[in-house]
Amino acid sequence: MIRTRFAPSPTGFLHIGGLRTALYAYFFARQNGGKMILRIEDTDKEREVEGAVGALIKTLHHMGVEYDEGLKIGPNHLGAVSIGDHGPYVQSERLPIYREQVDRLLVEDHAYHCFCTFERLAEMREIQKRSKQQPKYDRHCLNLSAETIKAKLDANEPHVVRMKIPEGETVVEDVVYGRMVFPNADLDDQVLLKSDGYPTYHLAVVVDDHLMEVSHVLRGEDWLSSTPKHLILYKMFGWTPTVFAHLPNLLAENKKKLSKRQNDVAVEDFLNRGYLPEALNNFVATLGFNPKSDQEIYSMDELIRLFDLTKVNRGGAVVNYEKLDWMNARYLREMDLDRLVRVLAVLVESERGSGFVEGKTERFQRIVSVERGRLTRLNDILERLPMYEDAGDYSVDLLVWKKADREDAKLRLEEVLALLEPLEESNFASVDQLEARLKTHIEGNRLSTGNVLWPLRVALSGQKNSPSPFELAWVFGKIETLKRLKTALKKLS
Ligand code: GLU
Repeated sequence: MIRTRFAPSPTGFLHIGGLRTALYAYFFARQNGGKMILRIEDTDKEREVEGAVGALIKTLHHMGVEYDEGLKIGPNHLGAVSIGDHGPYVQSERLPIYREQVDRLLVEDHAYHCFCTFERLAEMREIQKRSKQQPKYDRHCLNLSAETIKAKLDANEPHVVRMKIPEGETVVEDVVYGRMVFPNADLDDQVLLKSDGYPTYHLAVVVDDHLMEVSHVLRGEDWLSSTPKHLILYKMFGWTPTVFAHLPNLLAENKKKLSKRQNDVAVEDFLNRGYLPEALNNFVATLGFNPKSDQEIYSMDELIRLFDLTKVNRGGAVVNYEKLDWMNARYLREMDLDRLVRVLAVLVESERGSGFVEGKTERFQRIVSVERGRLTRLNDILERLPMYEDAGDYSVDLLVWKKADREDAKLRLEEVLALLEPLEESNFASVDQLEARLKTHIEGNRLSTGNVLWPLRVALSGQKNSPSPFELAWVFGKIETLKRLKTALKKLS
C-alpha cells in the first residue's frame, strides 16, 4: 500500500514550495490507489505561530488537496477533526510515543544522555570555529558511568538525549537525486530528545513515518542532508526505511532561492490576490515537472494520471510569475461562467458592500461575460466596475476620433441616437444583434467605422480603452445607453 504524507510545521503560511510538495504527495498517493496523510510537526514550540494549523488545513482544503488521514476541517467548517487510525497526527500529542522509542535506543546503546550546558556547547563551537573544524558535538558525555548518569538524573539536571552515530558510511538512494554516499564521520551526534521532553524533528519524523506506515517520503531538498541520520535511526530501530524523494527548491528569476517575503510565496496571499486554486495548482505542479512538452494546462485529474515522480527535474525550478498571470487569465476565460459569476459576486460584495450584485444579477452576469477575457486576476474586476456605474467626467476631446473632428463626432452620435431610440428594450438582448444593426447603419450610409464606433464607445465607457460599444450597450440596455449618448451629445454641443 502506497502511503505518503505532508508534514508541515505550523510556523506560518503555506509556502508555494510546500504546496508543490503536498500536491506531489497527493498525486502519487492517488495514482497508486494509496493514501495521503497530513501530519502536523509542532515540536519546535518557539517557532509556532498561533492559528497556523487552522489556516493550513483550510488552505489545503481550498486547494483541493484531499488527503485521507490527519487533521481535517470539522463539521460546519468549524475546528479540526482527526481522521484515520494512525493518530494522533499532531506531534505534540505523541510525546509518550517518542519517549518510549528513545528509551529503547538508550537501553540498546544507540543513544546517550548529554548534560552539557549551553555555555559549554557555545564555547566548544567557538573553539571549533577558530580552528576551522566542522561544528560537531565532541562526545563529552558519551562515556559517563551509569552511576554518574543516575545521580544527575536524580538531581533533575537538565539534559538531552543524543544519537550515537556509528562508524562507517551511509548510502542514500533518492528517487530524484539518485545514489549518494555520506561518511558517518561527517554526521553530528544529533539531539533526539530535547531538555523540554520534546523530540527533535529527526527523531519524530522517523518514528512517525514508521508508525504511520508511510511508504514514500516526498519533501524539500533542504532535508536531503538530514536523510543519512534518518537512515541510521531506521537501522538502530530495526525498521525498513521509507523510499525518499527530495524535491528541488523553487528558485527566483535570478536563480537564487525564492524569497520568503510573504507576498511572493504564500498560497493564501495568491488566493487573496485573485488567483484561482486550479490555476495556482497547475502552475505550481508544473514547476520542475512537465508531463508533456507541448502542453501547459492540466486539470487535477490529468496531473494525478500523468505525474511521474521519477521525472521530477533535479535542477531547481524557476518561478515565473508572468506565466502564472497568463495561466490564471486563461483559466478565467475558460471557466464555467456561472461559477465565475458566483465567485466574483462574493468578492465584489465583500469589497463594495452587499447589494452591489444582489437584485442586479442579470446585469452583473453581463459585465462578467464582457470582462472575463480582460482579467488577469479575479480582483481586477474591482477596477473595471466604476465604468459600469457611470461614465465619469471624461474630456470632450476623447469623443473625437483621431481622423475626425468635434462636429463629425456630434453628427455621428446624433445618427446613432436616432437609430437606437425607436428600438425596443428586447433589441438590446444580444450583442450580435446590436453589432449587426450598427454595422448595417455604417455600411448603408457609407460611413467609416472609426468615425462612428469610436465616439459611441467613449460615450458609453468614458474611457480610452474598453470593451466594444456593442458589448457595452448590451450590458446597459436601452435606457442607460441612451442616457450616456445624450450626456456625450451635451458635452459636444
Ligand atoms: N516539518 C518539516 C517541514 O515543515 C517537514 C520535513 C519532512 O517532510 O520530513 O519542513
